[in-house]
Amino acid sequence: MLNSHDPMSEKENDPPVPTPDEISQKLSDFLKENFGGAVDFTAMPGAPEVKESHTEEDQQEEGPDALDFNYRPRDIKDYLDRFVIRQDEAKKALSIAVCDHYNHAKYLRRLREEDPDHAASVEFAKQNVIVVGPTGVGKTYLVKHIADLIGVPFVKADATKFSETGYVGGDVDDLVRELVQRAEGDVNLAEHGIIYIDEIDKLASQGNSMGRDVSGRGVQTALLKLMEETEVPVRNPMDIQSQMQAAFDLKSGKAGPRTVNTRHILFIVSGAFSGLEKIVRKRLSANSIGFGAKTADIPMDNELFRHVGTQDFIDYGFEAEFIGRLPIRVVCEHLEAGDLLEIMLNSEGSLLRQYEQEFAEYGIKANFDKEALKIIADRAVEEKTGARGLLTVCERVLRDFKFELPGTAVRELNVDVEFLENPTAILEHYRKLGSQITAEQAGEEVALFAAEFERQHGVALVFDAAAVAAIGEKSSEKRTSILQTCTLLFKDFQFGLKLIQKNTGRREFNITAQTIEDPDAFLSDIVVRSYRDAEVGEPDDQSG
Ligand code: ADP
Repeated sequence: MLNSHDPMSEKENDPPVPTPDEISQKLSDFLKENFGGAVDFTAMPGAPEVKESHTEEDQQEEGPDALDFNYRPRDIKDYLDRFVIRQDEAKKALSIAVCDHYNHAKYLRRLREEDPDHAASVEFAKQNVIVVGPTGVGKTYLVKHIADLIGVPFVKADATKFSETGYVGGDVDDLVRELVQRAEGDVNLAEHGIIYIDEIDKLASQGNSMGRDVSGRGVQTALLKLMEETEVPVRNPMDIQSQMQAAFDLKSGKAGPRTVNTRHILFIVSGAFSGLEKIVRKRLSANSIGFGAKTADIPMDNELFRHVGTQDFIDYGFEAEFIGRLPIRVVCEHLEAGDLLEIMLNSEGSLLRQYEQEFAEYGIKANFDKEALKIIADRAVEEKTGARGLLTVCERVLRDFKFELPGTAVRELNVDVEFLENPTAILEHYRKLGSQITAEQAGEEVALFAAEFERQHGVALVFDAAAVAAIGEKSSEKRTSILQTCTLLFKDFQFGLKLIQKNTGRREFNITAQTIEDPDAFLSDIVVRSYRDAEVGEPDDQSG
């Protein structure tokens, strides 16, 4: 930020230009003086720093590196397959839409260089996407991974948090400003980001229990503008400090682009649309296409979705213009127990990897038996929250173990059918196991500690068997790991030992059961002796 004495920013006789911080401080003082502590002036969030280098001119010249888009739909789908189980139609449709969208943006950039007049007249129907599907089946997960792969910023929001005016809830324009923040101020990159809005179905005017009727329509209109093409001010017009910063930047000639164009921002909206399937079935059975009303409870799948038309969305309560701007429509299907099992076994982002990793941090190897996973999947289905149910169920069954086992002697945890059927008994079993540290285990871990100590400090601790046993006992008693016990016992030992090394050249120190009893006494004793030995010039006798 510029300071107020930048010679470029003031003319000879002008008063010095205050910085936005100085102005905030003055306002803050003023408010305090007049209204006491009841009113304060604070900076509002949502005012992204705009990169100075990205003025409108160099935006054109530079060309966004991250957007040198070279993917084919198949590449994107292959990538998504690694993480997202099922949802093949959605993956395909999204892959194609994303490729079309970014290829078009790339084409336009090229054209702008070669034939600017033609570029200005090119028309393109934007491939904004609507994803229909229940909660927890991978909608967000898909979009997030697409953004990750192609390296564009990604913002997710719930439609329910917006109000048409921005006074009650958030302002839809904030989404665009958030993209700029995600892009670390790079407006050009933000202009090619992805905005994902969930719970879009709550904006429909039918069945509104939250008084959204009027406001919902207003938000649809506001979003419509964004989805088409509009310029959003980089700085929130409602945010005083942000505006002051903008004015200041302008005056100092350091202003970046003031608006973000939404033409190349890809919008993906989604919602559960419960009841949409009924609307479609009703229409189809009226036309007698064979989707009887009897099957009304079956959730939306690709088969039925093929018959969903624009009119069905309008009947659901959307404005025709709004739904018309969302030409790509896909469904993410309901996940069954078998799919949830598949997610645990084969998704690269599997929850199991996460649990294995979390236990591994405490030196515990967690093994999940396939039969047990089937039970977990069955229980997760009952939660009716899609794959999110897996987390709920796993947390429930593993919480006590995650709390109690770290720091005990337990090195392996087997999550099998018995574990799930009889968790209380199994926990008791592991508690017992945890309190018994075998001599062998203790020996191994003490050796690891000693090796690390020597590596770090250049002096060796040599433990005898009785010392190892004493450490094992202490650990069992205190329910800490061997490593924790050692770390605590020999905390700051290196300083004393290095002193001795300096005095006598000694590099090895024998540790006995007595040392474990009272490590401090041991250390001060040998330090004192090392001075004495150094004086009389006798070699240390190694006792301790
Ligand atoms: P929603 O459909 O409500 O947007 P999410 O995509 O946020 O649900 O899913 C929640 C979590 O569940 C994801 O982070 C992911 O770990 C897991 N998940 C959901 N669906 C799938 C799927 N089809 N394949 C793999 N993991 C999934």
